[in-house]
Amino acid sequence: MSKAIATPSRTKEILETYDLFTKKNYGQNFLIEPGIVEKIARSAVISDHCVVIEIGPGIGALTQQLAYLAQKVIAFEIDERLPKILRETLAEFDNVEIVNQDFLKVDIAAYVKSYTEQGYDVVVAANLPYYITTPILFQLFEAQAPIASITVMMQKEVADRFSAKPNSKDYNALSIITQYRCEVKPLMKVPSSVFQPKPAVDSAVVQFFLKKKQDQIEEEPFFAMIKGCFKQRRKTMLNNFGTFLQDKEKAMQYLESAGIDAKCRAESLTLEQFIRLYEVAYGS
Ligand code: SAM
Repeated sequence: MSKAIATPSRTKEILETYDLFTKKNYGQNFLIEPGIVEKIARSAVISDHCVVIEIGPGIGALTQQLAYLAQKVIAFEIDERLPKILRETLAEFDNVEIVNQDFLKVDIAAYVKSYTEQGYDVVVAANLPYYITTPILFQLFEAQAPIASITVMMQKEVADRFSAKPNSKDYNALSIITQYRCEVKPLMKVPSSVFQPKPAVDSAVVQFFLKKKQDQIEEEPFFAMIKGCFKQRRKTMLNNFGTFLQDKEKAMQYLESAGIDAKCRAESLTLEQFIRLYEVAYGS
């Protein structure tokens, strides 16, 4: 076992050896706290037959711990300076594959399928580049692939929105759309002091477990309806839903049939109530 990469001294050593500066536009904040990295890796690797897809390995802080625990790690890194460095920092492993590619352009379903067909559990783990947290997560949610779990670090305030419950300040269309697709499990809060360079905000680790698709719901109109109902947060359901349908009378009728008070606000409704409203309005 070689020295942990996720320490202040080893990270400094790697940055100096390779004359590497961190790129802000790639969201490069490297983890320098081995205890946190280990916890993320232990949560992510859910079985002893796991293949991990990692997004953004950086200089290998999390990759190293994942490689100890998983059968294989496939790490996608956009920065073309890093694969050469990773091959050296992770030289002790023969179960790590580095792919120098923008993760948003990867056919993730094909990767997942090729390993699940061989009997592996495929999971995703990452300390996400914060500037593309939501696009990456939505790419995973929409991949229609049997990903067993997604364990990721993100900005704390974004994490709060993903897991928010009705009647809380963070609850919005994103919370409902995400909770429709996944079980969302907040794992831990992480202070900004464990990154190099230190970001302006705190972070949190969240775990997502994809739910089975509901056949009776077509996602595009369902999500459009939810977004429409949150369009003006302080307005009533009747107002927002009526504007969305361009028909207040119909909106009133659908709300009544779904058993929803027309004067309430979207932020008080549960996922199940939105599903009921969709079924009333769009069901055949
Ligand atoms: N995993 C490392 C760690 O925890 O120390 C680095 C995490 S850093 C927050 C995010 C990493 O994602 C960086 O290495 C960055 O270059 C990479 N990255 C940014 N955009 C990416 C993209 N579109 N596809 C793949 N990697 C990306």
